[in-house]
Amino acid sequence: MASNRGVAYMGPGKVEIQSIDFPKLALGSRKCEHGVILKIVTTNICGSDQHMVRGRTTAPKGLVLGHEITGEVIEAGRDVEYVKVGDLVSVPFNIACGRCRNCKDGKTGICLHVNPARPGAAYGYVDMGGWVGGQAEYVMVPYADFNLLRLPEKARAMEKIRDLTLLSDIVPTGFHGAVTAGVGPGSIVYVAGGGPVGLACAAGCQLLGAACVIVGDMIPERLQQAKSFGCEVIDLRKDATLGQQIEQIVGIPEVECAVDCVGFEARGHGKQAGVEAPATVLNSLMTVTQAGGKIGIPGLYVTDDPGGVDQNAKTGNLSIRIGLGWAKSHGFMTGQCPVMRYNRQLMHAILYDKFHPAKCVNVAVISLDEARQDRSGLRVPDHDDVLHAGALQIGNELVRHIVRGERRRIPAALFATARHIEREGAPEPAIGLQMQSRQSLLPHPAALAAAVQERVIDSFGHGDRASATQTTLIVLGIFPL
Ligand code: ZN
Ligand code: ZN
Repeated sequence: MASNRGVAYMGPGKVEIQSIDFPKLALGSRKCEHGVILKIVTTNICGSDQHMVRGRTTAPKGLVLGHEITGEVIEAGRDVEYVKVGDLVSVPFNIACGRCRNCKDGKTGICLHVNPARPGAAYGYVDMGGWVGGQAEYVMVPYADFNLLRLPEKARAMEKIRDLTLLSDIVPTGFHGAVTAGVGPGSIVYVAGGGPVGLACAAGCQLLGAACVIVGDMIPERLQQAKSFGCEVIDLRKDATLGQQIEQIVGIPEVECAVDCVGFEARGHGKQAGVEAPATVLNSLMTVTQAGGKIGIPGLYVTDDPGGVDQNAKTGNLSIRIGLGWAKSHGFMTGQCPVMRYNRQLMHAILYDKFHPAKCVNVAVISLDEARQDRSGLRVPDHDDVLHAGALQIGNELVRHIVRGERRRIPAALFATARHIEREGAPEPAIGLQMQSRQSLLPHPAALAAAVQERVIDSFGHGDRASATQTTLIVLGIFPL
């Protein structure tokens, strides 16, 4: 029996790589003939994983994380008709049966048959049905014909894998925010949050033909990133209202539509920039969105938040000024993105070179050699506000983790690992850890890197040598300064 390893959540701030069962084509005691087993090719750590790792959800210990999966089909159940062994596929993070009322309506984020507790399920996520996650070497995907998006032939797909890996969640999620905000040709839109989802949303707004895309954040590097592909930016640390700052750009203190790419771990702005204020984004969006405008809300809000700022926030009750939204006849769209509504078109846009999300969200996979050659190319943003770490596993052996740890300089951690691997004679790098800046509340990339480094060395140091020699290096793609 082949082995499998995955990243397990072990309590706030703690994840571990564990040996886990090789996936079976089974649903409980029943054979899952409509499922496939994937060998994972790439996977991303999502900002929403960070909510769990930070202890801000009720995720159970031992949950194997990971819902952003791209992989190769290595086994298919009897009833899988159209997906073939050997296909390279993108897996929408929403698990959907394809048979229920909601699936038939295209609302695959709220499938009725995949989570006994509530509508909607995902791999490796709290409250999402208990499915085993894909930050692992292998994973089982049910209802494969319905769920999977087949990527084109492998060589072509691998050329664009840095973009295509984003189709499992972040890119459709950002795009969904834009679509549900009503963005279209000539729109003037404000995107709250310049992390990967915000940046993906901004890129999506451009793809939809928006005339002016304004991204607001508190982190200069993210604003710089947004500028790099033609967005206007607003620095929320400034002591001016959002409306005033919008006015400086478009001449009036309003936009036509807005997207919340921040979610419940939001912070205030101006002098309050350091203070958690879970309703602040929604309230500010109602303030700046013109009457009749729509607000897309792909940012995550939870029903239970053990780390909530007050008793209300702990149960997802936020002080939202709904009266204002009502008075302005705002439209709101909440909830998970139904990925398959968008992923095929976005794949085409990527393959035909019309859309370059990896560049916009700053995916970076750097090989060990590159790291050796150009150490100056690795820069560490000097703030502790990086939220979203993404990891790409190009190859198969190791995994990726997210752990909260002490702040350290990334290069030191990275090169210690590099030297270690050099000594151990590991083959060429196959793994890239990419780190992306998202919102302002998750661990510092240096801490993540240090954690990864420690864990890798750990796994080397505990008799895990056979796999260690096939494992390669962690490489960091850091936010450019
Ligand atoms: Zn995600
Ligand atoms: Zn369904």
